[in-house]
Amino acid sequence: MLRVAVVGSGPSGVYAAQDLVQQSLVPDVRVHVLDRLPCPYGLVRYGVAPDHEKIKSLQNNLRTVLEHERIDFVGNVEVGTHGLGPERLLELYHAVVYCVGAARDRRLGIPGEELPGSRSATDFVSWYSAHPDAAGNGFALGARSAVVIGVGNVAVDVARILARAADELRPTDVPESALGALALSQVRDVHMVGRRGPAQAKFTTKELRELGALPTAGVAVDPADLELDPAYTDAAAAAALPAVNRRNLDVVRKWAAEPVQGRDRLIHLRFFLRPVELLEQGGRVAGVRFERTVPDGDGGVRGTGTYEDIEAQLVLRAVGYRGVPLPGLPFDERHGTVPHAAGRVLRDGVPSPGEYVAGWIKRGPTGVIGTNRPCAKETVASLLEDAAALAARSVAADPLAALRESGHRPVLWPGWLSIEEAESALGLSLGRRSVKIPDWQGLLGAAMQ
Ligand code: NAP
Repeated sequence: MLRVAVVGSGPSGVYAAQDLVQQSLVPDVRVHVLDRLPCPYGLVRYGVAPDHEKIKSLQNNLRTVLEHERIDFVGNVEVGTHGLGPERLLELYHAVVYCVGAARDRRLGIPGEELPGSRSATDFVSWYSAHPDAAGNGFALGARSAVVIGVGNVAVDVARILARAADELRPTDVPESALGALALSQVRDVHMVGRRGPAQAKFTTKELRELGALPTAGVAVDPADLELDPAYTDAAAAAALPAVNRRNLDVVRKWAAEPVQGRDRLIHLRFFLRPVELLEQGGRVAGVRFERTVPDGDGGVRGTGTYEDIEAQLVLRAVGYRGVPLPGLPFDERHGTVPHAAGRVLRDGVPSPGEYVAGWIKRGPTGVIGTNRPCAKETVASLLEDAAALAARSVAADPLAALRESGHRPVLWPGWLSIEEAESALGLSLGRRSVKIPDWQGLLGAAMQ
């Protein structure tokens, strides 16, 4: 028998577990999918926006995998603390696959970034997703105008949630506290700002189009921004773009040609503006100073020395995620990933027996959920190639008992099902569908019932 621990129950972890049990090369593989939270599904539960129901429904596929007879979900177990580092895991399991994602936000490194009212989009997403570690509840309070820095899919998500009327989110699983705060929101202008042009924006077209289909908000695009992009004015330059960028350009071109009217809220989509400073008034953020940029002919931009200030009482930095080092595991600071060769963790450039990575901690925070499938497959193929040597390692007979002996209180699948039941009951009591429990105490209380 080969016992494998997968650390992280997001898509990459679940796909790795699935690949491990759905192969015939090594018949008797048992998998424990460990997670520091008592709830599975990683960013599908705590990152995918609540109004993206179709993507959220992926949880059903992940659930089927976690219910496999040779897979156990082991929640509420944090790897990297309380003596449960990589070394200890290798005493408990023949192999360990780290699928811990990229948990931290990237920083801008400009003055004013720490001002009250300036937050990472990751914080905002955690808050409306009811992550039990989410800090604060005052996001939109008192703000009329918000700036979202970055033009990736996370920026689109947070801009859309800010622009929606709270009633539109009521049918989702948004926690009651966030729904209440969003209902009080006075935000009417959301400025989503890219430092490069529309042809280089990172959002995908389906997500971009959604902004133009919101019931109460419209999208405003300034043609003057677009005209700085050679691909906007020159058909040959546009034709040379990858299809997604070409489609994005077509969408913003249409919006620029049809100014919106009669909308309660506006999403201002801006380009060629790079943030240089967050402005302060009365000890809080009051706006963002941007420098106008122009293309440098090499896919990047250069500053022009002219500046534009955009008023904002709320600034959300949506400039990408970054991997966090796990104590005891090697880490490439430059890329924010664990060094690896085809998923095998490299220690001093040499594959470390029994240690593997998949997902964002392997390749960086890029791609959509489906990108994790081939990524996990490659890693599992490496693990299976090594299986004979791995199976010869001597490991604890009962890793779960060993975890309990060292003070861990794992939440297993029935515990998670109890949380789900408690969330349905909470929804019912509020006249809503299932509503997420937003705190540790509530989650663990429900799991232990
Ligand atoms: P992202 O796609 O890498 O976008 C980051 C954005 O921040 C880019 O516009 C980037 O501009 C900008 N940026 C970076 N540093 C900056 C700086 N110093 N100043 C100003 N702007 C800066 O990251 P993300 O939006 O966090 O998304 C992460 C991944 O999750 C992506 O693969 C995304 O597709 C995925 N995701 C998917 C969905 C979905 O499918 N619905 C939803 C959410 C997230 P440059 O391009 O100029 O660097």
